[in-house]
Amino acid sequence: MATLIDGRQIASDIREEVKQAVLAHTSSGKRAPYLAVVLVGDDPASSSYVRGKAKASAEVGIESDTMTFPDTISEAELLEIVARLNDDDNVDGILVQLPLPAHIDDTRVINAISPDKDVDCFHPASVGRLSIGLDGFAPATPAGIVQLLERSDIETSGAHCVIIGRSNIVGKPLANLMLRKGIDATVTVCHSRTRDLAGIARQADILVAAIGRAHFVTAEMVKPGATVIDVGINRVDDSTRDRGYRLVGDVDFDAVEPIAGHITPVPGGVGPMTIAVLLQNTLKAATM
Ligand code: NAD
Repeated sequence: MATLIDGRQIASDIREEVKQAVLAHTSSGKRAPYLAVVLVGDDPASSSYVRGKAKASAEVGIESDTMTFPDTISEAELLEIVARLNDDDNVDGILVQLPLPAHIDDTRVINAISPDKDVDCFHPASVGRLSIGLDGFAPATPAGIVQLLERSDIETSGAHCVIIGRSNIVGKPLANLMLRKGIDATVTVCHSRTRDLAGIARQADILVAAIGRAHFVTAEMVKPGATVIDVGINRVDDSTRDRGYRLVGDVDFDAVEPIAGHITPVPGGVGPMTIAVLLQNTLKAATM
């Protein structure tokens, strides 16, 4: 039976640490860290994520403002808003909730955010700093995964970390983080064209699934005793639930849990860590 990695508890510990650090910051006479959140349109998932971020910020003493715009806003108008936030010395962090409507180029908007305020760590300058090991903002989900490992005392040095998924928000930045000095994993990144994915996955001491397919990782893909980190969030039909579905990860939890050494549940594993890292980044933006 695997040891469960409790992302809710670890994220709660991090929030408490951020809260104490914010308190120390404001007690020294400085203003509270300030996060500007930009939300375009009324996508229910995006609205819900943004509400969660605002609530979590308030709980640790970070001030935040969610600026909401209709999905008819033009790209030029949005870029002007970002420019104003860049120039505003009272704004420490800027977060533009993605995805943006089809007529707006996500990349152009992200690239317009000042790298000094890029708390999502999506700007090319932030990604570049990460890849050459310079200090900077942490990519939320990957850094959350690293903190789950560190705070669960899982050895990363020399460990073979196999990451399934090569997205810009999870797989690639996680590979960069795991390679860093001090973390020192040997990293393999698998994707949809990888040959013998199961064979490679089975070599992993730390197996990370970031694919977006329910139950993709089966027991045959896991080495006994491996640490299994499940990033996936997938809806599967479930008529026993009022809402008609439940959330599951990319790992077939029931089959893998008896084999793994450590495993994250979904929900309650990687998910809660993402906002916790955003709070750490906003504090960093205010104090650097
Ligand atoms: P994405 O769709 O951008 O990337 C998926 C990756 O999986 C791609 O690189 C692709 O090559 C790989 N892939 C797809 N099919 C494959 C296959 N058959 N074999 C091998 N590789 C395959 O997804 P993403 O944004 O990285 O998100 C992945 C999952 O993680 C999603 O379920 C998403 O909801 C979830 N997610 C969770 C959090 C969190 O906070 N817990 C954060 C980000 C993403």
